[in-house]
Amino acid sequence: MTTADVVIIGGGVVGSAAAWRLRHDGFTGRVVVVERDRSYARASSFLAMGGIRQQFGSSVCVRMVQHSVALWREFDERMRTSTHAPRAWFRERGYLFLADDTNADALTAREAAQAAAGASQRRLSVDEIGALVPGLMLDDIRFGLFGPEDGYANPREVLFGLRAAALAAGAEYVDDEVVEIDTRGGRVIGVTLADGGFVSAPIVVNAAGALAGRVARLAHVDVPVEPMRQLLFRCTLPRPWPSRFPMVIDPGGVHWRHDDALVPGDPDRIILAFTKWDEPAGENLACDDVRWENEFYPALVRRLPAAVDVSDVHGWAGHYEMTPDHNPVLGAHPGLGGFLVASGFSGHGLMMSPATGLVVSELVRLGESRTFDITPFAVDRFARGAFVRDGATI
Ligand SMILES: Cc1cc2nc3c(=O)[nH]c(=O)nc-3n(C[C@H](O)[C@H](O)[C@H](O)COP(=O)(O)OP(=O)(O)OC[C@H]3O[C@@H](n4cnc5c(N)ncnc54)[C@H](O)[C@@H]3O)c2cc1C
Repeated sequence: MTTADVVIIGGGVVGSAAAWRLRHDGFTGRVVVVERDRSYARASSFLAMGGIRQQFGSSVCVRMVQHSVALWREFDERMRTSTHAPRAWFRERGYLFLADDTNADALTAREAAQAAAGASQRRLSVDEIGALVPGLMLDDIRFGLFGPEDGYANPREVLFGLRAAALAAGAEYVDDEVVEIDTRGGRVIGVTLADGGFVSAPIVVNAAGALAGRVARLAHVDVPVEPMRQLLFRCTLPRPWPSRFPMVIDPGGVHWRHDDALVPGDPDRIILAFTKWDEPAGENLACDDVRWENEFYPALVRRLPAAVDVSDVHGWAGHYEMTPDHNPVLGAHPGLGGFLVASGFSGHGLMMSPATGLVVSELVRLGESRTFDITPFAVDRFARGAFVRDGATI
């Protein structure tokens, strides 16, 4: 048995950002992060695409990413420790949403919401798109919505950078699995570990990513987060590309970004995603290569004909941590004292993890989230029918 002031279940980008931020904000209590797999081979943070954008229909998402971008810009310097130098390399190349007849109205509506929320964005004409991303087939395109402060970073470098920074700041990581969240009188009192150990704590944070629903059941409460398989493919471009891609989002759903060579002479590659909205919920990390042949590749070549000869195709699967409205579950659980939830980011949790860390830090230290109004993300909103639908999940 050991005693902590805060136990964080899950040491992915969310749990690690929370642990780092608590210490950064001067919290002197004992912060214990319980992580079942230090290789992170199945963690969403390890398997993600690394996209970072402030293009969302809800103002709180816009603000959380704007706050986070300040850290992304300085991440490699600020997260450097005496033993670890991350190379997350935030490339501020933008997100370019392409509009055709099928989605122009929806994008126009989101553009207005984003403008009201203060997002950095520009509407591009077809000629401007052609100049920004040479080689795109634009015969059916009406306009583009471009976020110049958006971009992407290396997710694994982000993950291990945050973990190293949290450790250096004084958080402790325990290699184990939480198998029970112990409660008494309607409050958490600690967690039981698979090795039989017990960590007592008055505050437990559920940062278990796609498994947050399962972890909540260990405390006999409901958190509506389910894993949903998401595939990514990486491939080598047919020749060294003369320009760098922003995140390009085709109206049909396929989207891709550059995966720059880290060493001169390495291949010039891109990473692609194409969300399958009827993918059944459940844990499934099998890569379905048939989707490359039937969906990813044809859609890519239709939009970027010069990509016809891409090679070295490699795919993998990770889990989106889906909620019914594709927005996070963030805050104190109303049914259990001391139980905080930071999950359900539905495929956009990496980009806002610095802000999420701040939210958790304020909830622990101050008892409330002061920087961001997180009431739209309340755990019980689904039961109240208060869905946050911003149509911005890709
Ligand atoms: C293919 C793919 C592409 C994505 N692309 C993007 C993107 O472009 N931009 C973006 O912002 N986001 C993206 N995401 C989403 C992003 O990866 C997640 O929102 C984010 O990583 C969530 O971080 P996390 O720390 O909550 O979860 P995770 O990284 O999954 O970490 C949770 C951790 O909890 C641990 N855990 C679970 N249960 C227990 C237990 N009982 N005891 C101990 N430990 C436990 C797990 O081992 C895991 O390491 C993508 C996700 C996927 C799968």
